[in-house]
Amino acid sequence: MSLTTVSQLQNLIHNQIGTHFRQPETENIPVAQSVGRVLAQDIVSPINVPNANVSAMDGYALAHHAATGDVLRLVGESAAGHAFSGNVGQGECVRIMTGAVVPEDCVAVVIQENTQTDEQGNIVLTKNVQEKQNIRYAGEEIQANHQVLQKGRILRDADVLLLAALGVGEVVVYRKIRVAVFSTGDELVEPSQPLSGSSQIYDSNRHMLMARLTSLPIDIIDLKRVEDNLESVMRVLNDAAKMADVVITSGGVSVGDYDYLRQAVEQIGHIHHYKVAMKPGKPFVFGQMMQAWYFGLPGNPISGFVGFDMFVKSALWQLCGVVEIPQPLRLQAALSVPVKKSAGRMDIQRAILTRQANGNWTVAPCGSQDSHRILGISRANAYMILPLESENLAIGDVVEVQPFAQAFLD
Ligand code: AMP
Ligand code: MG
Repeated sequence: MSLTTVSQLQNLIHNQIGTHFRQPETENIPVAQSVGRVLAQDIVSPINVPNANVSAMDGYALAHHAATGDVLRLVGESAAGHAFSGNVGQGECVRIMTGAVVPEDCVAVVIQENTQTDEQGNIVLTKNVQEKQNIRYAGEEIQANHQVLQKGRILRDADVLLLAALGVGEVVVYRKIRVAVFSTGDELVEPSQPLSGSSQIYDSNRHMLMARLTSLPIDIIDLKRVEDNLESVMRVLNDAAKMADVVITSGGVSVGDYDYLRQAVEQIGHIHHYKVAMKPGKPFVFGQMMQAWYFGLPGNPISGFVGFDMFVKSALWQLCGVVEIPQPLRLQAALSVPVKKSAGRMDIQRAILTRQANGNWTVAPCGSQDSHRILGISRANAYMILPLESENLAIGDVVEVQPFAQAFLD
């Protein structure tokens, strides 16, 4: 039987979650705290933006078009927050600042650089002035009652600017989802504790997972480490499934004598999927236990890291209520070294992406690609995504690359 491909598994997860989806409850939060949260309401602008006809520049507002050499009598001032309330007639003008309301009678603003002041304090034009010049009209950008943001959007920095500009001080977002995390392995020791023998190693995966979950709207339930025996795994999984929306585990999903996770999940719930045609990380368990979704990542640190990126992250966003899940940034780059690969699995290699002086991007694998190489993934700034059917590649071959967002400033 051929293995599930990466995109088949991505679709399977997306469809399963979509079919059984229950929207999280909602809560109201201040807009300044809303970045990275998922909007649970459509936002309709309560006002026009701009709210009135305002000046785009510092200068003088006129009641008519005018020509070079025309002399205008200054009759008042309109500043931001302090509108001019009188009348402006033929041959008159009002000093006006950027963002100030254009007086009702006025049809144009001349920028102050295109004027001079004579001895009597009158304004002399040094350029022609057309009607509508330098005026931002009410509702020009956003009309009142117009929808500006849609339910299901991950809120961004710029959305806060927009929302606050519309006078929206609080937004309705979905509550954070609860994700329980634990690692399995009798060899694992908590960082900061001493290793008491050469068969022990530090539990890096659980900390990596918890760190990565902090960038999503998630409340983490840390269930620490569980020993490699079926009863312990069953007990903790059971508890986790009762209190969390999602359970993510590390280790114990391959075919070794002490790999109990699949067996345990099948007793409590069921498994939708087990093996995927991807390197690193062939074992990847996706299942369900009661109302909780289950993701079982392999223990090899790089397999778990890559599996999280390829399958778990977008599933979590979906469960957080996102309607259109953002796609990772992908670009094309030419290989600067040859790369070995055999057909049959998609290979997600850790790589260094470099921008050349001519603006083109080149890419090369970042050291050995074994799935325990933690230094390599820390040095890499991108994945190289080599499709399942691809074989050995030569210098200059163009490959698909997925940059690590954190390695580049946005
Ligand atoms: P497993 O998937 O449990 O068979 O583990 C595969 C490999 O990953 C073994 O060498 C484990 O010692 C290692 N490993 C498992 N869990 C962790 C973890 N939480 N942190 C670091 N390495 C791990
Ligand atoms: Mg293990």
